[in-house]
Amino acid sequence: MEFFNTGLFIVEAVGYFLLMVSLLHFRQRLGLGVFLTALGVMHFMETYLAAVFYVSLPFGNVSPGSSIFFSGKLMMILMLYLQEDAATVRQPIYGLFLGNLLTVAIAWVLQFHQPLELTSGRPPDVNFLKDIGWLMVWGTAILYLDSLGIILLYEKLGDFMRRRVVLRFMISGLVLLTFDQICFFGGLHYFLGVPIDVFWAGWKAKMLAACLYSLMFAIYEYHVRRHGLAASARSIGDLFGDLTFRERYNDLLERTGRDMLTGVYDRSRMELEAPVMVQEALRQGQYATILIIDVDHFKDVNDGFGHLQGDEILRVIASRLETTLRSSDRIFRFGGEEFVAVCPGTSHEEALLLAERLRWTIATSVTTPDDTPVSVSIGVATADEDGTSLTTVLTVADGRLYEAKKNGRNCVVGRSEVVRIS
Ligand code: GH3
Ligand code: MG
Ligand code: MG
Repeated sequence: MEFFNTGLFIVEAVGYFLLMVSLLHFRQRLGLGVFLTALGVMHFMETYLAAVFYVSLPFGNVSPGSSIFFSGKLMMILMLYLQEDAATVRQPIYGLFLGNLLTVAIAWVLQFHQPLELTSGRPPDVNFLKDIGWLMVWGTAILYLDSLGIILLYEKLGDFMRRRVVLRFMISGLVLLTFDQICFFGGLHYFLGVPIDVFWAGWKAKMLAACLYSLMFAIYEYHVRRHGLAASARSIGDLFGDLTFRERYNDLLERTGRDMLTGVYDRSRMELEAPVMVQEALRQGQYATILIIDVDHFKDVNDGFGHLQGDEILRVIASRLETTLRSSDRIFRFGGEEFVAVCPGTSHEEALLLAERLRWTIATSVTTPDDTPVSVSIGVATADEDGTSLTTVLTVADGRLYEAKKNGRNCVVGRSEVVRIS
């Protein structure tokens, strides 16, 4: 009988996992609400079973409510976090908490009714509802701590074993389910007088469940991984890395404000950062120099070789500019084939040399497919001599760029001088 019960336990765990993971996996198509609602609905049953439904397993009397379904929920919460983020995990927990408080409140009001007994042999038991309500409130309060704990531990373990996703999943599960067993059993004992030997049996069952769920999680991960490899040639490490919220968040931050084509910072980022860079340099009593770089006769490049080839040349120019500038400088894509470099702590004379190096680098290393050199013209202006705000300095630099174009292009124009040391 005990082994039969164990078999049923495994069937329940596999069934629960398969259904819930399917809902989670297809959440883009079904909507996340389907998964979250299913997760929430199970809460009542878990608590009810944990209160009254026990079966005997080889290591003692255990309820599938807490060992299979509650453990499963905690593992699902960790999976939800891995695929979404902490803000999403918060929603079902707060929802459960408020819903359970409402259950308790409603049970309290219901006790003032005089209910009819229409179905014989099944008298309503409002007190039981109230007890279960309180037990659910208690369970959710612990679930809140469990969820925080399992996410934090999972992340912390990432410091030691970043790629061991399944192992991190399992250890986090084992530790937090132990914590949960201690807290939740306290409630069961207090509210319903559940005996102490149930604690140990329940703990063992939870550990078994955590191992089972980790095994299924591993199978799921490998399934996903195989799909990932079929779709692209990313490494295993990259794919696993993609799973965690923090890494995705950092990646998003890194990409925010980047120009899609060239990968350098874009105009919106320039409007945020460049004025601050100029003001900061001035505040420290330093110069800040602005370079406007415009590709010469770029229309002809597009007309002669097509826009895609034009795009490729822009990409090459951007990378040359980026590698020639110093780490304290910043390069932004200002418009179509125009770039702006902001160089804090750089005097006008220094900047003219830097601009000349940029001009020379482009002119000698970038060509169209028929080997015609591609060149740029550069206008240079410096705060505070040419103005004290980004806008005024940029306007002066733009005027000088115009002069550079008039002067025959492929040159640098600074304050009343034209530089071409080629
Ligand atoms: P010059 O600056 O030397 O006076 O001549 P130009 O031919 O470069 O003149 P202008 O600055 O007016 O033209 C810029 C051209 O750059 C026009 C547009 O077709 C092209 N362009 C702008 N953005 C992109 C882009 O993202 N990709 C490609 N391929 N071309 C672009
Ligand atoms: Mg141009
Ligand atoms: Mg232009």
